[in-house]
Amino acid sequence: LVGDECPPDSQVLGRATWTFLHTMAAYYPEKADTKQQDMMKSLLTSFSHFYPCGRCASHLRGEMSRHPPPVDTRTNLSIWLCQTHNKVNVMLGKDEFDCSKLDERWRDGPKDGRCSWAQDIEY
Ligand code: FAD
Repeated sequence: LVGDECPPDSQVLGRATWTFLHTMAAYYPEKADTKQQDMMKSLLTSFSHFYPCGRCASHLRGEMSRHPPPVDTRTNLSIWLCQTHNKVNVMLGKDEFDCSKLDERWRDGPKDGRCSWAQDIEY
């Protein structure tokens, strides 16, 4: 009940935000056209200014200026996000995620089909 009534803390917000970012990348076009690339660049830039955790946003802006997000393909964007998330994981003392498992985690689900109920997202 508390989870539905109280504003999110940085953990809840972080988890929900990564879910959004990785899922968005998982459904990004295999080959994005110029307009789609511009929109994604603009979304990520705006996001890095308005994400409501100052030190997280500042960390992301630093990362984006050192390693600009590749917005040309679904695979490149997904891997960049995975690597960026892994840098945060390392900073927080968490395990790194295996980026070869991205599609299984965020789009297709495990091969045994136990998550097939979740596959109701369309692009
Ligand atoms: P999360 O790290 O939120 O991960 C959620 C799920 O994503 C995991 O259960 C796993 O299945 C999957 N996952 C994990 N790693 C990857 C990966 N590399 N690629 C794909 N999937 C993965 N917190 C701070 O304290 N300091 C910060 O500076 C900070 N910066 C952040 C910057 C951004 C842009 C965001 C979105 C969040 C940031 N956070 C920061 C929050 C932090 O990353 C976590 O979201 C929070 O600590 C909750 O962690 P969690 O263990 O629930 O899992």
